[in-house]
Amino acid sequence: MPISVAIVGSGPSGFYTAEALAKAEADCLIDIIERLPAPHGLIRYGVAPDHQTTKKVSRNFDKTAGHESVRYFGNIEVGRDISVEELRSIYDAVVFAIGAPFDRKLGIPGEDKDGVIGSAAFVGWYNGHPDFVDLAPNLDTPNVCVVGNGNVAIDIARVLVKTRSEMASSDIPEYALGAIERSAVRDVHMLGRRGPIEAKFTNVELREMAELEACAPVIDAAILPDGVPEESEMSDRDRRLRERNLATLRAFAERDPDAMPKRVHFQFFAAPVEILGGDRVEGLRLERTEVVDGRAVGSGAFFEIETGLVIPAIGYRSHGLAGLPFDEAGGIVISDDGRIDDGLYCVGWVKRGPTGVIGTNRPDGQAAARQIVEDHPRGGKPGREALIEMLGDRGARMVSYQDWQTLDAHEQAQAGDAAPRRKLVTVEEMLGVLDG
Ligand code: NAP
Repeated sequence: MPISVAIVGSGPSGFYTAEALAKAEADCLIDIIERLPAPHGLIRYGVAPDHQTTKKVSRNFDKTAGHESVRYFGNIEVGRDISVEELRSIYDAVVFAIGAPFDRKLGIPGEDKDGVIGSAAFVGWYNGHPDFVDLAPNLDTPNVCVVGNGNVAIDIARVLVKTRSEMASSDIPEYALGAIERSAVRDVHMLGRRGPIEAKFTNVELREMAELEACAPVIDAAILPDGVPEESEMSDRDRRLRERNLATLRAFAERDPDAMPKRVHFQFFAAPVEILGGDRVEGLRLERTEVVDGRAVGSGAFFEIETGLVIPAIGYRSHGLAGLPFDEAGGIVISDDGRIDDGLYCVGWVKRGPTGVIGTNRPDGQAAARQIVEDHPRGGKPGREALIEMLGDRGARMVSYQDWQTLDAHEQAQAGDAAPRRKLVTVEEMLGVLDG
């Protein structure tokens, strides 16, 4: 009897796990269960809409979905349509690949004001995620503050200042593109609590900021060090990457900030301490910092930026599901290298936190496949057959991979000239297309 495996979540970590199980020597029957009708998680809804090359990895996921042992169950929510305990009772192994879809909190006064929108929601909005279509961020503000110096922060800053023609070959939904085009946004402030050497964005992403049609990157040359200090403990590779970022930032310093209608200001040594205003955000108060032993330490000097929109892009966290042990502080499921409990496993960001690139999830999936085959050399539980029966009894609307391919073809057929697709952005719309 094949080993029956349910994978909850169809993003990169879920698909890499399915791929590894499909290629395993042991006979496995693999079901991927996804809350939304559309698969691919972070590839569809997290990777920036103008980074289409990165999104092409989903073609490999199509191959995995086409494997005879793999089946996709879209539009099925664990916790609503079926519980963790029920999955556990019918599958030999259940793998949680649910990612880290929520924002970490800044933990400063004023964070609950209208106009503070975390990166998960904001990125979801410009990527047409059904949960965030109605977000309506306040873009009627000349200044936007993006807190954080990671690749998500830089994605957000870039999407906010790109022109319609620059986004023509992206799959950004019209509601977001139109809102950004009509917006009052002129100055985006990227705020790092530490310095340029400690910034986490990568050089390719940083250099993109110099190539924008209507926006100049701005930085105060005086804050840039001559190089990475000799005494800094880091690998040669890290040192090279940071030197490269410093060189790119030095080139930014030579640009004329007024030559373009929009600007992205790279501000370092600035830690947010309070979000100002009444019910709505009116400003952000920051403290100047210095980096001591790698940590940002407040200097006692403060400054303010007037703004109607603050976007903390300071990292993501996962969530628990009834039946799973959860580490609230770390925002991950508690596991022993992916083993949660008998028959329960986790992979990707819910296992190790929101770090690394898409490919980092591949070894995770391979490790989970090895663990599953090791722990369950022979299958015993009914898996798929029982799932279909349970969901059928509950009247759940299952979306198959073939259905997804219908939606995919529909989106591509609806696209404008250069755009790869025009996304269906609500569950109702997607099911409506399938219903003809
Ligand atoms: P990240 O790389 O961990 O960056 C988070 C940033 O937030 C850091 O600069 C961090 O500063 C800052 N931060 C954290 N807490 C803060 C606080 N309380 N106040 C002020 N700043 C704070 O996370 P991410 O940008 O969300 O990216 C997640 C992962 O996805 C990363 O591995 C990233 O490389 C990847 N990603 C890659 C791409 C791409 O390849 N194009 C695109 C998007 C995302 P400290 O360093 O001081 O903690």
